[in-house]
Amino acid sequence: MAKYQLQLAHLYGNLLNTYSDVGNIIALRYYAQQMDTTIATKVISIDDDFAPDQFDLVLFGGGQDYEQSVVARDLPNKRAGLATFIDDDKPLLAICGGYQLLGRYYIDAQGKKIPGLGLLDHYTLNQDHHRFIGDITIKNPENGEEYHGFENHSGRTFLGTSERPLGTVISGNGNNGEDGTEGAIYKEVYCSYFHGPILTRNGAIAKHLLLTALHNKYPAADLSSQAALPIKPTF
Ligand code: GLN
Repeated sequence: MAKYQLQLAHLYGNLLNTYSDVGNIIALRYYAQQMDTTIATKVISIDDDFAPDQFDLVLFGGGQDYEQSVVARDLPNKRAGLATFIDDDKPLLAICGGYQLLGRYYIDAQGKKIPGLGLLDHYTLNQDHHRFIGDITIKNPENGEEYHGFENHSGRTFLGTSERPLGTVISGNGNNGEDGTEGAIYKEVYCSYFHGPILTRNGAIAKHLLLTALHNKYPAADLSSQAALPIKPTF
């Protein structure tokens, strides 16, 4: 039995899982195992309650416009729970469609406005008969880390004042193809357009999310060996 146990909520994991975003859970488990930690996961979907005190981590994956519109109708039921989770500095990873739905709204490829949770300050516009598709590399200006991924989105996201980008675009399009930003960070919420999945290719982010979850759940624990864990090189 591992020393530490974490519970992860996979939000709408049965509807939002483009490009194998579920692989992020496999990557978290890979690093968690080396941190003497197990991760139990539960899909929280349409009509399920989200109880913030039952979870230490949340994954909110990407999806197609139709699935996003279905999810958007259910989101108000989970808004209060997710707000508490975020306010408590618990780690949440949101990819592509999930990233868009955490914000104020998303205008889909047909021009339809899909309301978001409004828990983060960004909004997402559409573009005319075009998608941003391809490999992308960014650099996190705060710690110098480079992240690699694959983007495929029609949405053009513009950040609000209370959030900062996950990185500056080195190659690729990023949030909107204009301002050189990619993704968003707000408290312990990490948002990105990266599939790949992001955590299999960028173990530094997986490690950060796990350490945050462990510090929150086991505040008195000595996590120095966990913090010293080497990560696989980015590729
Ligand atoms: N449907 C959204 C868009 O095209 C999100 C896509 C995704 O999650 N890969 O922008």
